[in-house]
Amino acid sequence: RPQVGVLALQGAFREHRQALERLGAEVREVRLPADLAGLSGVVMPGGESTTMRRLLAATGLHGALLEFVQGGGGLWGTCAGAILLARDITGDSDVPGLPPALGLLDMAVQRNAYGRQVDSFTASLNVRGLEAPFEAFFIRAPVITEVGAGVEVLAEHAGQPVAVRGGRLMATTFHPELSGDDSFHRLFLNMLP
Ligand code: GLN
Repeated sequence: RPQVGVLALQGAFREHRQALERLGAEVREVRLPADLAGLSGVVMPGGESTTMRRLLAATGLHGALLEFVQGGGGLWGTCAGAILLARDITGDSDVPGLPPALGLLDMAVQRNAYGRQVDSFTASLNVRGLEAPFEAFFIRAPVITEVGAGVEVLAEHAGQPVAVRGGRLMATTFHPELSGDDSFHRLFLNMLP
């Protein structure tokens, strides 16, 4: 039985927990570095990435998650969580003293890039590795503006990547936990050691 964590500092973590449990995983909510012990992967939910950055720094989870990945753990960031994974982030409100994100995945993102008029929308995605189209919910989503050579694009919307993967890291700019379709969560579990 895979043991996976859901980062539970802020945001939409409960729905991720439920999806992973439906797939038979043993799920732990991660709030402190010690919560990572024994996990093979962690999901970082949607929410507000600047708040999460402050909380990652304050709890010591920033360094602990970097070590977790270095030790072979898998990490999946959804929406705000995807922003945390990006190497380069634009559209940051210039907040002085804002702690860094994790910067683990070779991609650039722009926050809130779909603009106010299209704050939230759904799109049907063809996803590499999934048999059926995935109905994706985008909520004040970032846009992935650039991906490095080692990063595989799993799905695109309007010509831009919305789901990418590099090694045991995965990023999706939408909220897969809202679709009532657990196939992305299954994809993540299958990536883990
Ligand atoms: N706009 C949020 C941010 O920049 C992300 C939105 C989300 O996670 N639904 O952090």
